[in-house]
Amino acid sequence: MAFDYDLISIGGGSGGIATLNRAGSYGAKCLVIERDSVLGGTCVNRGCVPKKAMWYGASLSHALHDASDYGFDVTVGKFDWTAFVAKREAYIHNINNAYANYLGKNNVEFTHGHATFAGPNTVLIDGERKVTAERIIIAPGGVPVMPEVPGIEHAINSDGFFELTEQPAKALVLGAGYIAVELAGLLQALGTETTLGIRHDMFLRNFDDMLSSQLMEAMKNDGVTMATGFTTASLEKKNDGIYVTGTSGDVLGPFDTVLMAIGRKPSTDALGLDAIGLETDSRGYIPVDEWQETKVKNVFALGDVTGQAELTPVAIAAGRRLSDRIYNGQAGRKMDYSNIATVVFSHPPIGTVGLSEADARAEYGDGVKVYSSSFTPMYSAFSEQKTKTAMKLIVQGEDERIVGCHMIGRDSDEMLQGFAVAIRMGATKADFDDTVAIHPTSAEELVTMR
Ligand code: FAD
Ligand code: NDP
Repeated sequence: MAFDYDLISIGGGSGGIATLNRAGSYGAKCLVIERDSVLGGTCVNRGCVPKKAMWYGASLSHALHDASDYGFDVTVGKFDWTAFVAKREAYIHNINNAYANYLGKNNVEFTHGHATFAGPNTVLIDGERKVTAERIIIAPGGVPVMPEVPGIEHAINSDGFFELTEQPAKALVLGAGYIAVELAGLLQALGTETTLGIRHDMFLRNFDDMLSSQLMEAMKNDGVTMATGFTTASLEKKNDGIYVTGTSGDVLGPFDTVLMAIGRKPSTDALGLDAIGLETDSRGYIPVDEWQETKVKNVFALGDVTGQAELTPVAIAAGRRLSDRIYNGQAGRKMDYSNIATVVFSHPPIGTVGLSEADARAEYGDGVKVYSSSFTPMYSAFSEQKTKTAMKLIVQGEDERIVGCHMIGRDSDEMLQGFAVAIRMGATKADFDDTVAIHPTSAEELVTMR
C-alpha cells in the first residue's frame, strides 16, 4: 500500500522534531503535526528555555547582591520583569523560526492542527484532513496537573507563569518537584516575596538527601518562606489577594499569584487511540518497549508521553536513535535510560547522575561506600552569603565503581556533564583519584575525596 508519508509525528516538541529531522536527513518523507501555533513544544515555549532565561536573571541578581562584597560600589535597583519577558519571548520567537527552517532543510513538512488517529496508518488533522504514513510516532508530551479543589481557578501553573507579563509582588508556589523549587527560587531572587508550600517536611524527596537538605537551607537563607506539611484544600480570592487553606485548616495569604507545580500528566486523552486499539497505562502514559515500539505495529511513542525520564535530551535521544535505526540501518541503536544526568536549576544548582545513597543501599546493601564533601567555595569566601557546596560519590563493589554522583553548589549545572560521561564509561573511584585536579575550582573536590 502506498502511503502519503514514510513517517508522521503527532507533536512538534523536542521528541517529534528531533526524530523527524533525523529521519528526513536520511531521505524519509516526513510530516510533523503540531497543535500549537508555534514549533518547539514545552521545552522551548513554556519550559526549559524561558525558565533558564529567568534563571540567568536570578543568578545575576545573586551576583549583584554579592558585588559590594567584592568591592563594587553598586546599588541594586528593581528588576524590570515586563521588559525582560519581552526580550525572552523575542528570543523564543527566533528559536521557533529556526526550528521551522531546520525542518525545511531536512525536507520535513510541518502542518498546524490537532492530530487524532483515524485508523491504522491514518491520522486526521483537525477532524478534516486525512493523512497516511507507514510509521507514526506519538510525541504529544504532557500538561501540568491541577488539583481538583474549590477555588483552583485562582491559581496558575507553569504555563501560566510564563504568561505573566508583570512581576508578582507576593507569590505562593505549591509543589515539591523540579518546577516548584526552580520557580520559587527564581521568583525570590528577582524580588517577589515567595512562599513555597510542600506536603511533607522536605522537597525533591526522590533525590539524594544531601541535595534536598542543602537546597532547603540555601533557599531559606535566600528568604524563601517554607510552609511545610501543607496540603491545599481550597483557594479563595478576597479584595486583598488570594488565600489558600490547607487540609488541617491553616491559611496562607494573601498572595497575588498562586502557582501550582505538582506534576504533569501525558496528553493522551484526545489522540483517538481507540481507533488503533492502543491502550494507555492507568496513569495515561503509553507503554513502549526498549525500541520505543508500542503494542501496535509501526506505531512508536517517545518523550514525556512514555513516562520515562521526562527531560528534553531524553526525548531527543530516543527519537534520533529510532530514526538512525529505522532509516539509516544502524541496527541495535536505542535509548539507554540508565545513568541519565539531570540538573535542577535552583540557586545554587543541583547536578545529579546515578543512584541516590538510599537507592544504592537498597540495591547493593553493604557493598556501598560513600565519599562526601561539604565546603564553602572560594567565591563565597569574599561574600557575606556563605552558600555551601556539597558533593557525594557513591561507589559499589571491590573496584569501587561509581554508581552515583551528586553535587549542589555554584557551577554544578555545568560541572556534571563531563563526570556523567566518565560514569557512563564505568569509572571507578581510582579513576577519579588518578585524574589530576584543576585548581582552584570546586570540581577538583570530586577527584580528591578521601
Ligand atoms: P513536548 O515538548 O511537550 O512536545 C509535545 C508537543 O505535542 C506539544 O507542542 C503539543 O502542543 C503537541 N501536541 C500534543 N497533542 C497533540 C495533538 N493531538 N496533535 C498535535 N500536536 C499535539 N527538561 C530538561 O531537560 N531541562 C529543563 O531545564 C527542563 N525544564 C522544564 C521546565 C518546565 C517548566 C517544564 C514544564 C518542563 C521542563 N523540562 C525540562 C521538561 C521538558 O520540557 C520535556 O521533557 C520535553 O519538552 C518533552 O518533550 P516531548 O517531545 O515529549 O513533549
Ligand atoms: P515532579 O514530578 O518533579 O514533582 C511534583 C511533586 O509535587 C511530587 O513529587 C510531589 O512531591 C508533589 N505533589 C504531587 N501532588 C501534589 C499535591 N496534590 N499537592 C502538593 N504537592 C504535590 O513534577 P514537576 O511538575 O515539578 O515537573 C515535571 C517534570 O518535568 C519533572 O519530573 C522533570 O522530569 C521535568 N522538569 C525538568 C526540569 C529540569 O530538567 N531542570 C525542570 C522542570 C521540569 P511530594 O510527594 O514530596 O509532595
